[in-house]
Amino acid sequence: MSHAKKDTAPTRETAVLHRSLTSLPHHVVSASGSSLTLANGRKILDSCGGAAVAVIDYGNAEVIEAAVAQMHKVSYVHTMNYTTNAAEELARCILEPHPSSPNFDHGLKKAYFVGSGSEVNDAALKFMKQYWVERGEPQRKVYVARRQAYHGGTIGAMSISGMPARKAPYDGIMMPNVEFVSAADAFHLKGEDETEPEFVTRLVKEIEELFERIGAENIISFTGETVSGAALGAMPAPKGYWPAVRALCDKHGIILHLDEVMCGMGRTGTYFAFEKEGIKPDVVTIGKALSSGYAPSSAMLVNDKMLDVFRRGTASFNHGHTFQSHPMCCATVLKVQQIIKREQLVERCAEKGEQLAKLLQDAFDGAEYVADIRGRGLLRSVEFMLDPRTKTPFPKDTAFGANVQLAAFDLGVAVYLGSGTVDGIVGDHVLVSPQYTVSDKELEITVWALKKAYEKTVAGLYKAKL
Ligand SMILES: *Cc1c(COP(=O)(O)O)cnc(C)c1O
Repeated sequence: MSHAKKDTAPTRETAVLHRSLTSLPHHVVSASGSSLTLANGRKILDSCGGAAVAVIDYGNAEVIEAAVAQMHKVSYVHTMNYTTNAAEELARCILEPHPSSPNFDHGLKKAYFVGSGSEVNDAALKFMKQYWVERGEPQRKVYVARRQAYHGGTIGAMSISGMPARKAPYDGIMMPNVEFVSAADAFHLKGEDETEPEFVTRLVKEIEELFERIGAENIISFTGETVSGAALGAMPAPKGYWPAVRALCDKHGIILHLDEVMCGMGRTGTYFAFEKEGIKPDVVTIGKALSSGYAPSSAMLVNDKMLDVFRRGTASFNHGHTFQSHPMCCATVLKVQQIIKREQLVERCAEKGEQLAKLLQDAFDGAEYVADIRGRGLLRSVEFMLDPRTKTPFPKDTAFGANVQLAAFDLGVAVYLGSGTVDGIVGDHVLVSPQYTVSDKELEITVWALKKAYEKTVAGLYKAKL
């Protein structure tokens, strides 16, 4: 990756433990609007918002002012004894009916704020476990989650994640009490002769068989991304899957936890992704887009059914963090969310998402190695395969997706790479997830660059064969 070094400013040995010890990441010196400026002066159009994080413009003066104003007012309190207007207002702002769907009643009543998706999923794991202790069922110790899912990098969140490559070095220290079922992945898993309803029935049967094998009385919760994010590449569940899973959880008395860290907060065109599924979860976790990246922020949202059990029990969640409900983070997120409501950006995301889907379809119509174009709202992905007809992925060392991403970057457009799409090891996709404020022109440039990058990668493939 020699070209990655050209725009890296530090000439001295870096003191940062970067993700790679051999290649330096691009050095960003400023960011505004939709683009990042590198140390070598190059401007990059950020068409993935980092990792589906940025949803409004970079350098937004209103957000910066709100953050600074909060630091002048109250920079920090410990939540053991204190609360702030910033935290109180933010919780109300997130839980009140959203103007993008004013009549939708999500049933969520309280919010718990921490700093990252991993941290908040760990909080959810503990909240759900304690719920059963409060109910007098401390024998419940098993979490059910899905393969090909990402819930975070901390031990708890990683334990319920189904990404074998990321877990491999930690084999032996993951939580033992996690059971996995198939992903809601019609593209890779549905049989050729199977209809979508038959596929859903098969998935639900697999879950119910697991519930019965483990014993529902031993199970804490079922966790899933409403729309799968990075692991499967913007994959909505097949129609009817979530209502069936909700009904199954109700039948067996199991908590339904939706991880909307990537797909929530408007990203898929509705404020909560589950609005489209016709279900209400018991616990939801959000992050990424929540703060548009202006401050590390995430939240767990819980319904009254959960809270009532706590109220009748110890009446306290036995969990806490030093920087929980951080005033500056809360004030920053509040401003971001106010802007999203005021500018009707969730509605805009839905509209631009349709445009992006059409542009991608048109650009890759008939492309030899494009196996699938999917997603919802401004969370879209393009999956590449050696033979889309037989669904044969590229060998891992072809690094097809990585080459597409690098070539797009060379053309000045950042997209997010996904690998291991098929089984956690092989499979290539790129994720396109621009800001909700993305312009038509930017959408066109993004798709143009992606197409060019694809063509360049294909040309490299033929050259390698000669
Ligand atoms: C990114 C992500 C997480 C982890 O969030 P971090 O902020 O990186 O800790 C959890 N769940 C999903 C669905 C994600 O996309």
